[in-house]
Amino acid sequence: MSRCDLHIHSKFSARSGDWLFRRFDFPDSCTEPLDLYAQLRERGMDFITITDHDCIDGCLAIADKPQTFISEQVTTYFPQDSCKLHLLVWGIAPAQHQDISVFRSNIFELQKYLAENRIAHAIAHPLYSVNGKQYVAMFAGGRNTTAAPNTHGDSLYAWALP
Ligand SMILES: [Zn+2]
Repeated sequence: MSRCDLHIHSKFSARSGDWLFRRFDFPDSCTEPLDLYAQLRERGMDFITITDHDCIDGCLAIADKPQTFISEQVTTYFPQDSCKLHLLVWGIAPAQHQDISVFRSNIFELQKYLAENRIAHAIAHPLYSVNGKQYVAMFAGGRNTTAAPNTHGDSLYAWALP
């Protein structure tokens, strides 16, 4: 079995203006990507990725290191009420990051794009997020999805596998 931390932030998340994020999501978000890479390797991770907010700069900074791939934590919105949700998206190409930047203003368009391109994704920290709690059931009710609590029991990850 391979180990990989699928939800971790570098200093490139620090510029988020979202107070919920600052409070719950990245208490140690000042880390340089290369330092983060070294720390994760030390902790025994086989693969390394960084899920910064709507940004892949951290991933690109470590892209020449072995065993890395590009991911991000996408801020997306429900069109009917502008409610916000955060998706973790893994294993993308830089061009797909550009596409995601366009589609993320509408969660339904974003989901369609992710499904069509078979990009693995999941809801980030839904139980910390005001809107995540509200919508996790909707995600989990879709086809090819399962939901399970994380190991700490404080967060529910709803997996939407393509
Ligand atoms: Zn996060």
